[in-house]
Amino acid sequence: MHLDRIAIVGAGMAGLAAALSFSRLGMACDIFEEAHDLVEVGAGLQMSPNASAILHELGVLGDLESIWTEPREIGLVSATSLKKLAFVPLGEFARKRWNSPYGVLHRATLQRVLLAAVERNPLCTIRLGTPIRGNLPHSLRDLTGISYPLVIGADGVWSNARSSVPDAPQPDFSRNIAWRFTIPLSEAPGWLEPDCVTAFMGPSTHLVAYPLKETGAFNIVAIASGISPSATWEAQASESQRGMLIKQFSGWHPEIIALLSRSDRPTFWPLHEVTSGRWHNGRDVVLIGDAAHAMMPFSAQGAAMAIEDGFVLANEVKKAGSLPAALASFEHQRTSRASKVKARGSFNRFAYHARGPFRIGRDIVLSLRPPQSLAADLDWLYGYRVS
Ligand SMILES: Cc1cc2nc3c(=O)[nH]c(=O)nc-3n(C[C@H](O)[C@H](O)[C@H](O)COP(=O)(O)OP(=O)(O)OC[C@H]3O[C@@H](n4cnc5c(N)ncnc54)[C@H](O)[C@@H]3O)c2cc1C
Repeated sequence: MHLDRIAIVGAGMAGLAAALSFSRLGMACDIFEEAHDLVEVGAGLQMSPNASAILHELGVLGDLESIWTEPREIGLVSATSLKKLAFVPLGEFARKRWNSPYGVLHRATLQRVLLAAVERNPLCTIRLGTPIRGNLPHSLRDLTGISYPLVIGADGVWSNARSSVPDAPQPDFSRNIAWRFTIPLSEAPGWLEPDCVTAFMGPSTHLVAYPLKETGAFNIVAIASGISPSATWEAQASESQRGMLIKQFSGWHPEIIALLSRSDRPTFWPLHEVTSGRWHNGRDVVLIGDAAHAMMPFSAQGAAMAIEDGFVLANEVKKAGSLPAALASFEHQRTSRASKVKARGSFNRFAYHARGPFRIGRDIVLSLRPPQSLAADLDWLYGYRVS
């Protein structure tokens, strides 16, 4: 079916990718974003081939490839000995195996490139500084005078659109905090490989580091358990909070602790997931991205899932005979994909944070796994294509 004009609430990865996906099929989109400017929030993102294949379809991959870094591999390294236990090859290997590249970039870079494509597109409009609250779609009709046949809630983990969907998911604090540090590439120690994503796995905590060409620095994110300060996305840590964090790395290699102690002041995010629930109201409101399925970053897939959601939803609307049928088919496909990805994240969390005998067992098993076999485990995730 064809919809003349739809509304999208939120201009994050989910909202912008959805706008490009619908307009590609000839359907116009009005995007409403509460922020006055899309400023630099967030940190680095890994974009795996399942997402980059869609970014290619949306016509933005070329722009991203000229800016992002294409890492050679994902290395899995013991945080106590700094010994590399295993790796998943990326670079040319990823392009061949999953038919699309694997890149790392700043979240703001991806958002800027998607926004520029939306702004160039005559079928898309965007209204910044326009928070949408209240019951959808009525509050949008009151604001614009337009009766949108479909409203997409792409307004993130603290979604307001969710209140228009009966039995929608709810945010839940995971008791984990992500801490972000940066280290200029010129000051990075030799054990931080300049062309790789490296996951350092330690007891109860892990740390992921990769270089960002755009910022000239390593993006370093450490995940450890902690107390939720508030619902904010990102906050600056005090020196005493940094001290608390360093304590959680006791037992780690002294070089890592020294690096964390001398880096710029970290920022931190309390990590929230959302529970399972309904993603649409059966008529005219549907949730995508973090609003529907915010997940822990253990498989680095939240933004990739948000991009897949927008693309699948547009295809389903185009194919279906009615909106309720399109929404039901969308929810059916995407809940099963998102739960599989969440399950993989839980497995990674167990492996990355293993303690005591489990950690010793993990290190032995990993060091016996050839790179090809680790890559084959990811075929279902990175090789996924939307029909
Ligand atoms: C530490 C960390 C590392 C991560 N690493 C990765 C990674 O490597 N790869 C990956 O794929 N994902 C990663 N993620 C996940 C990824 O960042 C998120 O899943 C993704 O940004 C979600 O996109 P979204 O568009 O759904 O939500 P958001 O990016 O939160 O966008 C929501 C938008 O809606 C707007 N909005 C909110 N309320 C309203 C309103 N009432 N009216 C209008 N506008 C509104 C907001 O201002 C915002 O612009 C990571 C997350 C964290 C925390």
